[in-house]
Amino acid sequence: MLSINEAKEKANYCLNCKVKPCSLKGCPLGNNIPEFIKQVKEEKYFEAYKILSETTVLQGVCGRICPHKKQCQGSCVRGIKGEPVAIGDLEAFTFDKAITEQGHSLLECYKNEMAENKEKNEKLSNKKVAIIGGGPAGLTCSAFLAKSGIKVTIFEKYNYLGGLLVHGIPEFRLPKEIVKQTVDNILELGIEVKYNQELGKNLKLEDLEKEFDAIFLSIGANVSSKMGIEGEDLEGVYGGNELLEYNLHPDYKDKKVAVVGGGNVAMDCARTINKMGAKEVKVIYRRAREQMPAEDKEVEDAINEGIEFLFQNNVVKIIGDGKVEKVELIKTELVQKEGETRLVPVNIENSNYIEDIDYVVMALGSKPEGFVSNLGLELNKWGNISINENYQTSNSKVFSGGDLAGIKGTVAWAAQSGREAANKIVEFLENQK
Ligand code: SF4
Repeated sequence: MLSINEAKEKANYCLNCKVKPCSLKGCPLGNNIPEFIKQVKEEKYFEAYKILSETTVLQGVCGRICPHKKQCQGSCVRGIKGEPVAIGDLEAFTFDKAITEQGHSLLECYKNEMAENKEKNEKLSNKKVAIIGGGPAGLTCSAFLAKSGIKVTIFEKYNYLGGLLVHGIPEFRLPKEIVKQTVDNILELGIEVKYNQELGKNLKLEDLEKEFDAIFLSIGANVSSKMGIEGEDLEGVYGGNELLEYNLHPDYKDKKVAVVGGGNVAMDCARTINKMGAKEVKVIYRRAREQMPAEDKEVEDAINEGIEFLFQNNVVKIIGDGKVEKVELIKTELVQKEGETRLVPVNIENSNYIEDIDYVVMALGSKPEGFVSNLGLELNKWGNISINENYQTSNSKVFSGGDLAGIKGTVAWAAQSGREAANKIVEFLENQK
């Protein structure tokens, strides 16, 4: 954690802009950044936390893992001529001070509003909403619904909440203790949780429909996408999401590992595998470094830790007798094509070469699990649940958000969809007879 003086120095660097592009353009959640930073300048940490709580319940999480350079810090006025304000560090510092150190809570921020809602809206306080999946979208939706006085029950597949915040993001990026404090804080709002409840197994949508006034589906998209190339079914090829979620790691000692992809899941896999003692870890990405979706800092850290990057390289084939032994790669050039907003990688003819590799990790994005197509809800062409502008699925009682609904893949965007869906669910319930 930053020292008080370091935090003050970083906070004093903020110009407190009236136009606040950091909040309005950069932050998916629209956090009131200049206002919370102003409180940090004055060492009023609970006040700072309270301001953030108006728009988010994941302060300690987003402060640590958001791709800040692509979100809030990417729009900071200070960043035009120099370094942007360290908004992420200050958000994490605010959580650590107010919650971990001073023992304040989210309930303290919301209790007046919750009490007002209870009296003001008797009808709403009798409404019940089921949240399926307790990741960033589900937790945020639960908190904002509970704040409106609604009875919320989370149905969670595992025996813990947090979803990918726990099993998808390694400890060195997001300590489990911070997730636990965040979850405890949210549950304190009066939310009930039913653990070990898995949709498609021991939980049915139609049963929940009978018992609840509305449902929010937020089970994520946890199946790693495949490239559809030869050798992808060989032993030793792993999906990045499954590797992290189910801890499927083999023994990496003396092994060479290729991680295919350029996003944060690829970085998390590469850095985790490297820390677990692999002999060599190579990240294979078909575009250039500037086009990588991963946060710059993650790439920087990975390079400093000794991970090698093969930019503008693509995997053509995985080779082996039953299990992975080699990969065939090809070099790419980036071409501007008509109608495309970004450069397109094109394979350079006859530039193929072979690398000795023992394990391949595919971290190219993910899609929802197969059973989602049997829920009776419309899907879009990528297999995500279709939602309208009200976050409502083809069943008007069922809402969805986060990765399952194909929302842009960062935790802050998932949380934003959870919060906005909560507002729409409140409207829906208010209009019910
Ligand atoms: Fe502060 Fe940067 Fe936001 Fe301006 S844009 S208010 S300098 S964080």
